[in-house]
Amino acid sequence: MTDHWAEGDVLTNGIRMHYYRTGGDKPPLVLAHGFSDNGLCWSPVARVLQADYDVIMIDARNHGKSEAPATAGGSRAQGDDLAGLIRALKLEEPAVMGHSMGGGATLQAGQVLVIPGGEKPYVPKPTPTPRPAPTRAPAQAPAAPVQVPSASGSLLWPMQGVISQGYWVAQYASHRAIDIAAPTGTPIYAAENGVVTHVQWNLWPYGTMVMVTHDNGMKTLYAHMSALNVANGQTVSKGDQLGACGSTGRSTGPHVHFEVIRNGAQVNPLLYLP
Ligand SMILES: [Zn+2]
Repeated sequence: MTDHWAEGDVLTNGIRMHYYRTGGDKPPLVLAHGFSDNGLCWSPVARVLQADYDVIMIDARNHGKSEAPATAGGSRAQGDDLAGLIRALKLEEPAVMGHSMGGGATLQAGQVLVIPGGEKPYVPKPTPTPRPAPTRAPAQAPAAPVQVPSASGSLLWPMQGVISQGYWVAQYASHRAIDIAAPTGTPIYAAENGVVTHVQWNLWPYGTMVMVTHDNGMKTLYAHMSALNVANGQTVSKGDQLGACGSTGRSTGPHVHFEVIRNGAQVNPLLYLP
């Protein structure tokens, strides 16, 4: 079978590594093979995934067309090779999947292990029930200029569910957010008083998302929604419904990806949640 994939070499970690690449403006997926194989062993997988991913199949050191240095190096060196290739190809937040020996390399590279079609293991951790949205007073005659409620100083859980991924930072990848999983349609609430400063409808990777800016230097971001209940510029109070849980964008199942941005940096939301 002929596959018209690009191939190339990068010099990284002191060796020349060879790779095959399906290409295209798609999210990158790096595949690391097992001990008795080489990069092209992933061809059947790449043929299926190339419609949605820029699939990069690497030849590990001592395998395929990659260099065979004097030292085999083990999974630590292979992890460094992999990380170096990701840097050399300037891949942005690639998904990395490895089989057997390649799996060891991907874990050494500090990357996210992705199993297509698989279930993400998660540690169930119940979150407190969010307070119901405050009932609004009946509409009255237009009041004086809209007052943006000040930040209250403590955050509300944005959705009831289980934490399916925590906040983590590794050398070449990170998840500077928490993921809370719940059935599609579960309401997502504003964690704090503020103004909606960004909304987008189903753009990769966040899908449908809302950002709320608070008056204390904090922003909160809610991603992968299935429905949007607010508009850009709208004032929201803590507990107002922003949208509904979904799986839009880069997501493997319904959840809200919740970021807390403090003075421009994404911080661990759990530090601010009750
Ligand atoms: Zn997330």
